[in-house]
Amino acid sequence: MKMEVLIVEDDPISLKLLSRTLSQLDYDVIEAKNGVEAWKILQQHSIRLVITDWVMPEMDGIALTRMIRETELTGYIYIIILTSRQGIENLVDGLDAGADDYLLKPFNPKELRARLRIGARVLDLEQRLKGAYERMFELAMHDELTGLWNRRAFYSHAQAELERSERLKHPLSIILLDIDHFKLVNDQYGHLVGDRALIMIAETVSKNLRSYDRAGRWGGEEFIILLPETTSNIAVEIAERLRLQVMQARLPVHVEDQIEFDSEMHVEISLGVASLPLGMKITLDNLFNSADEMLYRAKGQGRNQVCYRT
Ligand code: GH3
Ligand code: MG
Ligand code: MG
Ligand code: MG
Repeated sequence: MKMEVLIVEDDPISLKLLSRTLSQLDYDVIEAKNGVEAWKILQQHSIRLVITDWVMPEMDGIALTRMIRETELTGYIYIIILTSRQGIENLVDGLDAGADDYLLKPFNPKELRARLRIGARVLDLEQRLKGAYERMFELAMHDELTGLWNRRAFYSHAQAELERSERLKHPLSIILLDIDHFKLVNDQYGHLVGDRALIMIAETVSKNLRSYDRAGRWGGEEFIILLPETTSNIAVEIAERLRLQVMQARLPVHVEDQIEFDSEMHVEISLGVASLPLGMKITLDNLFNSADEMLYRAKGQGRNQVCYRT
């Protein structure tokens, strides 16, 4: 794809010359006759590269540069000032206003091309940094093994959802889920098979959620699900469905014994459900504790079941 460059120039002949040169260098050229026009275009298009004249009516190149730098735009804009204003003072003023480079008219096409390549390198670097930052941000919010939200990310999302539900007086439920006798699974089949069971549960949960539900890994073999707009009755139905689906899932295991053979195993889960009491105030921790108590009850009553606060 061609790179877009915005050229800002009030003199028609200079504009034409620059435009032609840039087209020959394989840029996609967009033209503006002054700073005001350029600013409008920058609002509408995501242009990363600007070559601007200094002296222009309405808004000059320095004012435009300052405006770009003072505004939170989505990506960095590389600005080259192309002017006939010579002298070190002017150059310093231009760079101080926020320009990345300063060139004198008449420009030498070869030099312009080399300067634009510097711009492209800077923009590429910025793009890669941004990508790396976004990936790190994603990693910091998700559990590595299952891809679900981690505890911290889940917590802050749940806090916002709780406030929203309280304000709108809408229902909200959470399900806390814990694998039964998971230690035995690890002991019997090994940690890797245990990990596969965790992934299977994360997939089963994800498969059953609506787009605005959230699932997180709460701890080692504990998962948590946030269900906005969901009453206790519905949440219990969902929990029950999850319990059955997990119980029915079979995981292949490779057991090394005297003889090698392939076998299958399954895991079971216990679930605790808690809901926002309609029209009442409750803290997030209270809601979590309530689900935890119900989970504890499910464990106490023999596991592989759903308990909920009535
Ligand atoms: P209960 O039915 O009472 O919940 O018994 P349990 O054995 O599931 O509970 P316990 O809390 O005693 O043990 C949890 C086990 O989960 C112990 C730990 O080794 C295992 N575990 C936690 N995180 C991971 C993990 O990331 N991978 C694997 N394979 N196992 C994990
Ligand atoms: Mg001019
Ligand atoms: Mg457990
Ligand atoms: Mg546990």
